[in-house]
Amino acid sequence: MLLTIKVKLYPNEQQEKALLETMERFNEACNYISKIAWSTHTFGKVGIQKIVYYDVREKYNLSAQMVVRAVGKVAESYRTDKTCQHEFNKHGAIVYDQRILTFKASDEISILTLEGRERITIKYGEYRQLNMERVKGQVDLIYHNNTFYLMVVVDVLDADPIDPDGVIGIDMGIVNIATTSDGEVFSGNKCTEVRQRYSNLKAKLQSVGTRSAKKHLKKISGKERRFKKDTNHRIAKAIVQTAKDTNRAIAIENLKGIRTNSTVNKAVRTVIGKWAFDELGNFLKYKATLAGIPVFEIDPKNTSRECSACGHIDKKNRKTQSEFLCINCGHEENADINASKNISFRGICQLSHCPLSC
Ligand SMILES: [Zn+2]
Repeated sequence: MLLTIKVKLYPNEQQEKALLETMERFNEACNYISKIAWSTHTFGKVGIQKIVYYDVREKYNLSAQMVVRAVGKVAESYRTDKTCQHEFNKHGAIVYDQRILTFKASDEISILTLEGRERITIKYGEYRQLNMERVKGQVDLIYHNNTFYLMVVVDVLDADPIDPDGVIGIDMGIVNIATTSDGEVFSGNKCTEVRQRYSNLKAKLQSVGTRSAKKHLKKISGKERRFKKDTNHRIAKAIVQTAKDTNRAIAIENLKGIRTNSTVNKAVRTVIGKWAFDELGNFLKYKATLAGIPVFEIDPKNTSRECSACGHIDKKNRKTQSEFLCINCGHEENADINASKNISFRGICQLSHCPLSC
C-alpha cells in the first residue's frame, strides 16, 4: 500500500538558510521557465527542457538535476491547465528525487542545496517503523509555518493479509469522532472541551498581539495539534486492535465524503473541517496495513439516512443528530451506530465483490 507521510526536518540555522534560499531560487527558476513555456506554447517536459536547460542552469546557478525538477514542476502544472501563464509561490514545494535527496541513517537525510549537500536531522514520529528504502518516486520539500517538511510516498510493507470473517464499519463525526458498528463509541466530548479551551485562549492572545503573546499562541497551536494527533492515534490503534482480535476488515467512508456530507450543516462542517479526519483515516489505513487488515473506503452517500434494518432511505429517518427512527419499519437506534452498520454492510459488499453497489 502506498502512503503519503509528512516528515519534519530539523535543520540548524545555517542549513535552514540554505534550504530557504534554494527553495526561493528554485521557484524563481520555475517562474522563468513558466514564462517561456507560456510565450512559446511549449508545455511538454521534453520540449521545455530543450529550450530552457542551459539558460536556466546559467542564470540561476542550479544543478542539472534541480533544473530538470523545476522543468518537471512547470510541465506538471500546465498538464491540467493551459489557459493562462502559471506563477509559482516563492515558498512553493521543491520536488526532489533520489539523485538529490537520500535517506541516510534512520534519522538523517542528505539533501542538495545551493550550498552543496547538507545532512539534516529528521523525525518520523508515528511512522518510525517504516523502511525508507521503500520510498516511491519523488519527495516534495515543503515550507509551512516556518518549518520544513518532506512529503514522502512510501510503500508500506503489508503483513500477510488476513482472510476476514466480517467488516467493522466506522462512522466518523463531530459529536462522536468515531463510532463502530459494534457500538463502540469514541466520544468527541473531551476534544470539544479542549478545542473550546484553546480557541478561547487563542482569541484572547490574538487580541493582545504582543510578541510574547504570539509566541504563546504558537506554543498553544502546537499543543492542540499534538492533542488531536494523539487522539487520532489512540482511536486508530484501538480499532485496529479490535479488527485484529476478531479477524475482521475495516470500512470507512471515502475520506472526501466526510467533509462534503450533505447531511451536516455548514456550522458543523466548519468544525469537522478542523478535526483531522484525513489524519485519522491515514492512521487507520497505515496501522491496519501493517497488521494485514484490509481497509475498504465506501461511498458515503446516504449512510446516515438509510435504515440498517430494512434499507429504507429517507431524510425523515434521522430525527436529530443522535436519534435514528425508521419511518418504514420502526427500527430505532443511535444514529451514528446505524450509520456505522451501513458502512459495515457496504464494506462487506466490497469484500465479497458483490456486483450490486449495495
Ligand atoms: Zn427500517
